[in-house]
Amino acid sequence: MVSACAQEKSDLSMRAPGAAAAELHPPSPSLSVTPYNSTPRPPRVPSQFNSVRTSRRIIALTFDDGPHPELTPKLLDILRQQGIRATFFVVGRNVDAHPEIARRIVAEGHEIANHSWSHPDLTKLGEQAMRREVEDTSAAIERATGRRVTKMRPPYGAINQRIREVLTKDHNLDVVLWSVDPLDWRKPGPSVVTQRLVDGATPGGILLAHDIQAGTIEAMPETIAQLKAKGYSFATVSQLLAMREEARPPVVADAPAAAQSGNAADQEAPAAAR
Ligand code: ZN
Repeated sequence: MVSACAQEKSDLSMRAPGAAAAELHPPSPSLSVTPYNSTPRPPRVPSQFNSVRTSRRIIALTFDDGPHPELTPKLLDILRQQGIRATFFVVGRNVDAHPEIARRIVAEGHEIANHSWSHPDLTKLGEQAMRREVEDTSAAIERATGRRVTKMRPPYGAINQRIREVLTKDHNLDVVLWSVDPLDWRKPGPSVVTQRLVDGATPGGILLAHDIQAGTIEAMPETIAQLKAKGYSFATVSQLLAMREEARPPVVADAPAAAQSGNAADQEAPAAAR
């Protein structure tokens, strides 16, 4: 049951799903507003992300589908040795089975986030079932760790406008996809996983991996070493989002910015494996 995710969907490119998604910023308060309250910070506006705009060499490592009773603790040991923080998109029923591992994830400074209760393709579920997948998982995480989650990654990256609205508006959750998918669930071997993650890393990137895959855990020490050698440091997804920089006005108008990763923002079809 922990291997909720294994063989997936379609044949996927290593492209990110839902590309230019979102980095919505609330409008700046107008200067002419009555100054009765000194520049309150605008509330967080949940949105969808594949990566974060930043010029700094910072990335987020993310691990899906756990907690796994043996592999997740092993990964936590590695992350502790390396002194880095990551984000765990957990499956609710696995949290219920291993709440102590969920607590350890949080206690060691990592971020914990929602990856549904039973790892279905949410776009194939009815409204009620879809909402329960989300709500039951957030509740299980809160029960186990005391944390209220603010991030959700739909299984397989499968999302549509209806689900996005439920997640962002009704549940105040950011939808977090990824910019690099090493297809580690296909078990290509640790060195290939390392190479794909390192080659795909870019400033503000969100790297996808799975802590239910032994080969992925095995790949981590070398992956982290190579990323550090390239000058990268590591942040949780929430930390990364907090560092995002405003878009600069385009200097020349000859290329639409959204074209760069080749996908429409509104991704209706399941993207890659998870
Ligand atoms: Zn998954």
